Amino acid sequence: MSSPNFPSPEEIQKRLSEISAMMQRSMPNSSPTAAPSTEETGSVEESPEPVDPFSFSYLPKDIKAHLDRFVIQQDDAKKALSIAVCDHYNHVKFLRKLQQEDPAKAREIEHAKQNIVLLGPTGVGKTYLVKHVAELIGVPFVKADATKFSETGYVGGDVDDVVRELVQRANGDVELAEFGIVYIDEIDKLASSSNAGGRDVSGRGVQSALLKLMEETDVPARNPMDIQAQMQAAFDFQRGGKAKKDTINTGNILFIVSGAFDGLRKHIEKRLMQSTIGFGAETGQTAHDRSVFRKVMTRDFIDCGFEPEFIGRLPVRVVCDPLETDDLYQILKKSEGSVILQYERAFKAYGIELFFDDSALRQIAENASQENTGARGLLTVCEQVLRNFKYELPGSTIHSLHVTPTLVANPAEALGEILEEGKRMQADAQGNVIVEYIHRLAERNGLQLTINPDAVAKIVALANDSARQLRDVCEEIFKDLPYGLKLIQKNTGTSNFVLPVESVPDADKWLSELVVKSYQGASQDTPSAESTDQHP
Ligand code: ADP
Repeated sequence: MSSPNFPSPEEIQKRLSEISAMMQRSMPNSSPTAAPSTEETGSVEESPEPVDPFSFSYLPKDIKAHLDRFVIQQDDAKKALSIAVCDHYNHVKFLRKLQQEDPAKAREIEHAKQNIVLLGPTGVGKTYLVKHVAELIGVPFVKADATKFSETGYVGGDVDDVVRELVQRANGDVELAEFGIVYIDEIDKLASSSNAGGRDVSGRGVQSALLKLMEETDVPARNPMDIQAQMQAAFDFQRGGKAKKDTINTGNILFIVSGAFDGLRKHIEKRLMQSTIGFGAETGQTAHDRSVFRKVMTRDFIDCGFEPEFIGRLPVRVVCDPLETDDLYQILKKSEGSVILQYERAFKAYGIELFFDDSALRQIAENASQENTGARGLLTVCEQVLRNFKYELPGSTIHSLHVTPTLVANPAEALGEILEEGKRMQADAQGNVIVEYIHRLAERNGLQLTINPDAVAKIVALANDSARQLRDVCEEIFKDLPYGLKLIQKNTGTSNFVLPVESVPDADKWLSELVVKSYQGASQDTPSAESTDQHP
């Protein structure tokens, strides 16, 4: 049974033509350089201002120096990555030049691509390294997770999506995307021996799909299953009269894969043991050697469940070491991407200056290393420590926060104390406003007048409870005060007054009783400079 509401392909096509015509009418200058329709030839659209990724002129040392600004430790990894990236982009540059000068010769050039495998535990800077390399050289960069591919069941299809995403990152510039970097994490999850049942098949399937990409293939620029992308393409085609390049060649895309490779360690160790037993020396020494990954061989990857062809396409092996507590401290203190800078900025947005004691940074690093998630733990700990401060302090009277080891150890208590202190400071400031008000009132009326601290506190509480301005509350309470006190002064000769706490809740009553008493000649009962907090 057909759905009566669903449009046929012809209707969609017609509707697209209408929208396209409408858009062109509403944007007469939208494509001033658009060539006449090339529908027949479907020629590839030329980018009006092609981005030139071929001006690459970095030395490995330049790249390493850039990485040093952000990434702490991982020296071997920084060097190996810098060399591999320079090799790759120098080759890309060379090939590009040759293609322009002698295309036939360019086709003959043989080159083994320097795809990279990064080994190391989570949170030690693998992604961070690649991201900063890509940023420095100005090529698009996409990160994906290998486990996502195996879970879909559409083995291969999604792998291509990663390459298409590069085009999005390059703002639709397919040519630039063809020189981008694809980074695939958790690649170790594709090792078939580490997976059970059907996932073996999927892991192997993804390995061969990736292998194809890493070698060289043409990926359709639009996912055939993505109706929206197809419609967009038809729309672009009609609007500009040109088709965008419809395949992405992966020959010059740099692939970097990474993983913790926990399972790999035992294979390396086993092999090393066997070889050492063979020679009768150093037996068992490798068991706790943290640089065991540096001894990895292709055979270990294969024993661990990788296809030989797949590993063969990843000739550059880069090891990232676990981060010790001191490394985490150095990250906080020295990395230009330190989370501390992020927190300082976040608080500054509310006008709050953040200061960290060195010993507090050490404490944060210490706590973070307990998390066992590398530098990611730093963010977790900072969030635990500072989150409530970020909520409570903005909009309060507190404009600076000094982070000490005591605060890191017990943030809730420290926050409580700071808020109390803040309240005290605020109450003091409000009290000063009231004292100043009374002082001016006295001056204007030629009286000697002070106010009892309890009365001040009472007025502050009244103003805070009713969310009114202190001055308004004072005006209301003391509107008849000068007149009343002058009468008393006249009747009793007293000119020195102190306002007690009783004068606040019902000032009129308090004042009229005083006035009445002053008429009765009870001058000894009226408040005076000596009887500071007395009242009738
Ligand atoms: P992974 O190794 O799992 O790819 P990431 O590179 O994503 O870990 O690290 C997570 C975050 O931790 C980074 O964004 C960065 O802020 C910080 N980080 C990790 N390692 C380092 C390091 N060696 N130096 C400085 N910062 C680091």
